[in-house]
Amino acid sequence: MPREIDYSLARRAVLRDLRRGAVARLDVCDAHPELLRAGRNLGTVTGETCPVCDSAELRLVSYVYGDRLKHANGRCVIDAELERLGAAHDEFSHYVVEVCLECSWNYLRRTSLLGRRHAG
Ligand SMILES: [Zn+2]
Repeated sequence: MPREIDYSLARRAVLRDLRRGAVARLDVCDAHPELLRAGRNLGTVTGETCPVCDSAELRLVSYVYGDRLKHANGRCVIDAELERLGAAHDEFSHYVVEVCLECSWNYLRRTSLLGRRHAG
């Protein structure tokens, strides 16, 4: 697995398909209630507008995955916890998802490997 994968090209393709009607809005604006709640409570304000509805309520949510993370595995984390985990573990995966609190648009922005093995 590469250290970081950026999905912006795939994201652009989905948005293009949406604009020409090849994809239904309901199929891409389908954020799970849990993700919407995480976005509302723990998400980072992006300063960008939603690519679907132009709302300013676009948030970035971080998830971490790794067998050695124990209770944190699969959880949504804030930046401070991400730093703490990065200092305490050799390697884990970090997923960044964007979600719009207005229209429920959501997309995986990037995945990366974090931890001491990748520090510096
Ligand atoms: Zn939106």
